[in-house]
Amino acid sequence: MADVHTGEAQTFAFQAEINQLLSLIINTFYSNKEIFLRELISNSSDALDKIRFQSLTDNSKLDAQPEFFIRLVSDKANKTVSIIDSGIGMTKTDLVNNLGTIARSGTKEFMEALQSGVDLSMTGQFGVGFYSSYLVADKVIVTSKHNDDEQYIWESQAGGSFNVTRDVNGDPLGRGTKINLFLKDDQLEYLEERKLNDLVKKHSGFISYPIYLWTEKTTEKYVTDDEDDEIKKEEEGDVEVVNEEKDRKSNKKKKKVKEVSHEWQLINKQKPIWMRKPEEITKEE
Ligand code: ADP
Repeated sequence: MADVHTGEAQTFAFQAEINQLLSLIINTFYSNKEIFLRELISNSSDALDKIRFQSLTDNSKLDAQPEFFIRLVSDKANKTVSIIDSGIGMTKTDLVNNLGTIARSGTKEFMEALQSGVDLSMTGQFGVGFYSSYLVADKVIVTSKHNDDEQYIWESQAGGSFNVTRDVNGDPLGRGTKINLFLKDDQLEYLEERKLNDLVKKHSGFISYPIYLWTEKTTEKYVTDDEDDEIKKEEEGDVEVVNEEKDRKSNKKKKKVKEVSHEWQLINKQKPIWMRKPEEITKEE
């Protein structure tokens, strides 16, 4: 295959039924778009089940990435949300077959339900699956690494076709899949960490793998010229007030600075509701 070495894109046509499904997802008025996250997290969980199962008989399957996780990252500058898992991943052939050329058995029923205006979140009988990404995104890039193949990129803006390219420059995943959603301009609410956190709590409470959210922390503080003092007061906790005191006495200039840092925050409990203490369960759950 030529693209193995060059990273040249290969274009594929979506199978007719999938194409129809995509048009419906994009064009049907459907207000309950938030289910996309549940669908993608559920796919990640399935992929983690698969590699975990394989590792029971062959532990070396985990060598490329020993940890099991699902990670969510929102990037406000690029208006993207990513769902990353360390699941089984997809080979190039898997990407072509699973995300474009082989329709699932429930597709027809799903399309009929969508057109008849059924609340799909309530029925629970059809998973909208991967294609629900297009409820909120106008472009999706999937990067995936399976133990048996190189890392590949799948990309599509719907519209009948998708591209698959060998990933020659991207960050190596080790093993697993990254779904990168380029949000539509009217769906930017999904960039909010709070929203993603709430959705995971609401729809993905039963997932048995840790789900982490890349969380921004902003710390504001007043900085005087006296760096030593600054550090001392910070350790005592009450940075702003104490520094104001100090400033009046010493008559030093001060400025307010913001420090931004990020960390992975665990946002799910990983235990089904019936295994948790009743007093820890909220009314909503
Ligand atoms: P379903 O999950 O119901 O089979 P989807 O359309 O959601 O249908 O996904 C189609 C297929 O693509 C899955 O069966 C799986 O093989 C593959 N797939 C989707 N997401 C992932 C993922 N995160 N990791 C590995 N494989 C995936």
